Parts: sequence; structure tokens; C-alpha cells
Amino acid sequence: MFVHNFFMVILSLSATVASPSGPIQTFKLNDGREMPRFGLGTWLGFISTVRTNKSEEVENAVKWAIDAGYRHIDTASIYDTEDQVGNAINKKIAEGVVKREDLFVTTKLWNDAHGRYRVLPALENSLKKLNLDYVDMYLIHWPIAQYLNGTFYDVDYLETWEAMIAMQKKGLAKSIGVSNFNKAMLERLISKSTVKPANLQVEINLNLQQPELIEFCKQQNIVVTGYTPFGSLFPNRARSDAPPPRADDPALIDIANKYNKTVPQIALRYLVELNIVPIPKTVTKSRVEQNIDIFDFKLTQEERNLLKSYDKNYRTIEPKMWEDSPYYPF
Ligand code: NDP
Repeated sequence: MFVHNFFMVILSLSATVASPSGPIQTFKLNDGREMPRFGLGTWLGFISTVRTNKSEEVENAVKWAIDAGYRHIDTASIYDTEDQVGNAINKKIAEGVVKREDLFVTTKLWNDAHGRYRVLPALENSLKKLNLDYVDMYLIHWPIAQYLNGTFYDVDYLETWEAMIAMQKKGLAKSIGVSNFNKAMLERLISKSTVKPANLQVEINLNLQQPELIEFCKQQNIVVTGYTPFGSLFPNRARSDAPPPRADDPALIDIANKYNKTVPQIALRYLVELNIVPIPKTVTKSRVEQNIDIFDFKLTQEERNLLKSYDKNYRTIEPKMWEDSPYYPF
């Protein structure tokens, strides 16, 4: 069993992407395309709709990321960062640093654009902001349909998924997938549709490891992207009820020192060893470079066991205000 799983992993890791800091391997998706197994997140958090004067911070981060070897960038229409992501990408292409086909760009359909006729205009709007002809991955951000004022409307995600398939057929999205779907929702989608999602994006970090969901996706050949990969590691982001560890945890510091790495790098490396695609967000140049520098060491089984013990099924992203939707996933 172990040998079989080991070879499955080796087989599914395929061609590498050249980069200044070393090649980033890719996972083969179930539609035949490749997804770099590490990416940059670009969500700035729960800020108001008014842009701050830092309106180039994501653009700079994406440029530093491309220079550091990132080839996978994650955004979403609701983040209001697609324009900055697009600016950075197009500038790096113009500079000759990368070609469009070297990059893997993900964006997401927001809740107000569910339904047969809303998906195409939503994707066209995202592509316009990104100033790109296509995205590599288009995800249904949540299974929930709601108007911008927050009230729910009754559209089954199966209908929205059919429109996503049409986007793939048009070539506007090379691959399609879903985010924040639970196992039962995925099973329903797979059983009722002709096209299986290539990617599931969900929260995965030390406190929320979701082994059952990951195992299901492995069986279904669905690559799992892990959002909020640091969870509650940093005290400034941790709620008071969040379980340990924090970045100053002595056991984590010992592991980090052993490999001459930082605690955040250990947390990311653990996800990589679970075959999750982490998409850490940072707008700090040194952290952009630090976070991707995790492909030159390997944790021991004992260390992985310790990291596994922090799994408390604790969510940092839990939109309880949507609990009344029939499609609430958690
Ligand atoms: P992360 O777990 O990536 O944490 C981001 C925070 O960690 C920022 O405050 C950042 O600070 C800080 N940070 C990053 N690297 C380091 C480091 N090496 N040392 C210390 N601090 C560090 O959280 P996110 O919630 O942003 O998740 C990542 C991405 O996942 C998002 O940006 C988004 O693209 C995606 N996402 C998707 C969701 C979905 O529903 N599909 C939901 C949530 C996220 P700073 O920037 O100041 O450096």
C-alpha cells in the first residue's frame, strides 16, 4: 500500500518549471494540464471596499514572486486584486522574465455570479481586470449563491458548474474547479456532472488538516490547494480560542533550527509533504522569498507526527453569517 502510494505520488509529479530559485514541480491535473505545487496568495483580508494608498502592494509582491521563482498566483474577483496581479504578470512578460504559458493564474467566481447566465460576464470581467486572454484555473469560490446585499438566491451549484464547463470549452478557463465544497457536495457534483473538478481549494493548516477530505480527493484525482496555510501561527491573526501552536512554539523552533529554516517554512513544508498546494499570502519581499524556499529539505516521520498532532479541526475561515444558506458547506 505504502509503495503503491509512493509511486502514485512520484508519477503524478511531473515536468518542472525553470525558475531562478530552483525548479518548482507541478502536479498533473485530471484534465491533463499541470499545476505548480506552490503559489502566492493575494487576498488582503477583510479590508473595506475603499482602497488604501498601498494600492501597488500586491503588484509588487507578484513581481517579487515571479523573480523568486513562483509560477502560480491565486486571486479572486472579490479580493479586488486582479488588476494588480495582471499588471505584475504583464510587466514580467514584457520584460521577458516569463512567458504567459509559464504561469498558472487562478481566479474565482464570486457568490453573486452563480447561475447559467452570470458566469460568462463574471469571467470576462475578471479577464479584463487581469488583462489576460484566459486563466489557468477558474474556481467556484463558495457553493453559495447570494446577491451583493448578502441575501441568498436559489441557484444550485450544479447549474453554475455547467456554466463553468462552458467556460472551459470556450478556452477562457483552461481548467475548472471548486473551493469551499465539502465531501458530500463534491460527491454530488461528481455523480451528476460529466466533468470532474480538477482542483479543490480549501483551508488547510496545522489546526485544520482535513485528512478525510484530502484522501477522498486523492482517490478522485483532484488536486487540493491549501488556503490560509499559516492558520493561527501568527499571534496577530489568531483568535483567542485558537489552539496552539504559535510561531514561538519551542518544539517548532527546534525543528526549524535543525534545518536552518523558520517556523513558517516548517508549516509550509509539512503541507507540501501532504501533497497539498500551499498558497501563502505575503506582501513583504523577504517573506515572498522565504516562503518558497522549502524544497531543499525533508521532515522526518517523527516531526510529521508532531505536526499532525496539532490538527484540531479548527477553522479560521468560518462564515457563520451564511449558515442559513441551504448550500452552507461547514
Ligand atoms: P496566510 O495563511 O497565507 O497568512 C497570511 C499572513 O501571514 C499575512 O499577514 C502575512 O503578512 C503573513 N506572513 C506570510 N508569510 C510570512 C512569514 N514567512 N513570516 C511571518 N508572517 C508571514 O493567509 P491567507 O488567508 O491570506 O491565505 C492565503 C491565500 O489563500 C489568500 O491570500 C488567498 O489567495 C487564498 N484564500 C482563499 C480562500 C477561499 O475561500 N478560497 C479563503 C482565504 C484565503 P504580510 O503580508 O504582511 O507579509
